[in-house]
Amino acid sequence: MAKDERFVKKITPKSEDFSRWYLEIIRKTELADYAPMKGIMVIRPDGYAIWEHIQRLLDKRIKDSGHVNAYFPLFIPESFLKKEMEHLEGFAPEVAWVTRGGQEELEERLAVRPTSEAIVGSMYAKWIHSYRDLPVLINQWANIVRWEKVTRPFLRTTEFLWQEGHTAHETSGEAQEETLKILSLYKEFVESELAIPVVEGRKTPREKFAGAMETYAIEALMSDGKALQMGTSHNLGQHFSRVFDIRFEDREQKLQYVWQTSWGVTTRLIGALVMTHGDDSGLRLPPQVAPIQVVVIPISLGNWKENVLPAALAIEKELQQAGWRVRIDAREEFTPGWKFSEWEMRGVPLRIEIGPRDIKEKRAVLVRRDVQIKESVPITELTSRVKEILREIQAALFDQALRFQKENTRTVSDYDEFKEVIESQRGFIRSWWCGDESCEDRIKEETMATVRVIPLEKNEEEAAGDCIYCRKKGRELALFARAY
Ligand SMILES: [Zn+2]
Repeated sequence: MAKDERFVKKITPKSEDFSRWYLEIIRKTELADYAPMKGIMVIRPDGYAIWEHIQRLLDKRIKDSGHVNAYFPLFIPESFLKKEMEHLEGFAPEVAWVTRGGQEELEERLAVRPTSEAIVGSMYAKWIHSYRDLPVLINQWANIVRWEKVTRPFLRTTEFLWQEGHTAHETSGEAQEETLKILSLYKEFVESELAIPVVEGRKTPREKFAGAMETYAIEALMSDGKALQMGTSHNLGQHFSRVFDIRFEDREQKLQYVWQTSWGVTTRLIGALVMTHGDDSGLRLPPQVAPIQVVVIPISLGNWKENVLPAALAIEKELQQAGWRVRIDAREEFTPGWKFSEWEMRGVPLRIEIGPRDIKEKRAVLVRRDVQIKESVPITELTSRVKEILREIQAALFDQALRFQKENTRTVSDYDEFKEVIESQRGFIRSWWCGDESCEDRIKEETMATVRVIPLEKNEEEAAGDCIYCRKKGRELALFARAY
């Protein structure tokens, strides 16, 4: 047991130093590692397996809602980005440039894509001619480069993976409908598959995407009380279509500019999983995206290889056939106790222990990672019980995170109280805001809190209050927080 204890003790407790805990979890559970280049990470197989489940589950939703996948180039000519100055200026500090190809100096330098509106826009101008060509509903899965000064694995890295949707529509109404449709698709996806509750809302002009008319986002509260932006959906209006001249002949044979949207989620979602559900023993992964859902551990006592191992292998096979991602850990060099804490740390949702006594009784012991509750189940009922428990774990993780979000969302109308709450408890703060950017800026300077979103969900009975900062009449009920 002494050995087992050491194994887990190597992780700094979450309450002691959240940021260190996060970095240690990422590295010890082998989700990611630092690459030799500053600010760049390697996503290791377990981290990538989570990404593959995210891709699979989200891609299905994207396609089921009528979108198709394509691939656009990694390189974007400078002149394309320059056509739209607001957009370029928004990204300029973070753009990586290619200036040479082999030995030759390029005539025009190429940006490594920080996002693809410009290149997509230039292609849409070639492809869209008539209202019959609309809507165009394209998504791509790709990598993105933004030269970040301060980085943290999964949350902010120079290169990351994402999906970006780019759509074009006949009318403004359709573009707005698409923007909100994707926002709620993201919310449903993140809540049901990642078990992370989110708030949907609109970004303030200060926080919106460079070139967008409106940006909407889903925001989640991490377990240290800081907010994390989980995904964005932009209504681009005709901004890019005017710049890239994307016009179509409408139903009255008049030339019109298309209405566009773009939207994305990134590998940052993996960081959100860690920070929402992880505890002092390690990861707690929702079954829907866990690389391994069930680990079977034969208890190595006596002649276990003859007695126990065959039964454990049979369980593994049966669960695999039922469609679960199962792994048996029959390593001889580790004690069962060591294995328990290792798989706990790696966040496997359910552990099945089977030893000589269980074999005699034709039973096995199931241990839930989320609440550490054990139960003994007859082997004949194992498959159906595993199905039920995995569903319970998925729901329990969501409920726990939702409870945390609710307990840490406070309505505050006094600025001194606002500062006090942000400093001591963090969390989301609901406060009225006059809509002036200067109040937003001051609040940020003084408290490091920003308006995360103006929530879409409104409580109609709630009377409008005064701006938390200037005491003028409040125009928006804003959700403030310190954020990653
Ligand atoms: Zn104000």
